[in-house]
Amino acid sequence: MSLQIKQIPCLSDNYGYLVHDPVSGKTISIDTPDATAILSTLDEEGWALTQIWNTHHHYDHAGGNAELVQKTSCSICAPVGERQMIPGADRYVAGGDVVTLGQYTARVLDTPGHTRGHICYVFDEQNIAFVGDTMFSLGCGRVFEGTPEQMWASLSKLMALPDETLIHCAHEYTKDNARFALTIEPENPDLQARVAQISALREKGQPTVPMRLGLEKKTNPFLRPDSAAIRARLKAGTASDAAVFARVRQLKDEF
Ligand code: ZN
Ligand code: FE
Repeated sequence: MSLQIKQIPCLSDNYGYLVHDPVSGKTISIDTPDATAILSTLDEEGWALTQIWNTHHHYDHAGGNAELVQKTSCSICAPVGERQMIPGADRYVAGGDVVTLGQYTARVLDTPGHTRGHICYVFDEQNIAFVGDTMFSLGCGRVFEGTPEQMWASLSKLMALPDETLIHCAHEYTKDNARFALTIEPENPDLQARVAQISALREKGQPTVPMRLGLEKKTNPFLRPDSAAIRARLKAGTASDAAVFARVRQLKDEF
């Protein structure tokens, strides 16, 4: 039996995730956008929560920690860089650390940019990544605390994972991201095809997340600063990839 993942729509556009190992019976909540929704999903599945793995300190990611600990006695694993903002965790982790769910292991990646201490969790053997607010479908997180250079380095770490990796991000922002993506690389045929699929999914109320990294690399304008078409459109010449990324991020902030 393999890992079971339950995706939970929370708040207006968040996704929470429960990851369950049927062998050990252990269950992790990736972030805690909404304790009530997470508790009722645990109930429906008959799963007991054993751990919370936080990606960063924002309220829609760690806001349910206290209630879930109180009601389930689970432990918390949180980024060491955000110790002050996520107090009382049982373990603080950073890039290179390994966290476990029964027999399964996940690797912690440092992915600063959206927040200074943001981390991602990667189950390498299963090709599953939980990326919080670092990468979105056709988008990426706003650069609130770090620099565009840091964010580009963080996205580059994720892009180095195998193309089959299923990227689990924390928001359903895809439709708005698609509108923006078409202004950056309108003639990209992979993007055009994907936008059509996205519209069909959203019309049926279905999620566009998780997504395969390989398709993301072909269509997400934030991952494509090396695209000749994007460089031509932005008159970027031979600017560095980080600089082109920063320009795309700025255009999205103003979009
Ligand atoms: Zn956030
Ligand atoms: Fe968020």
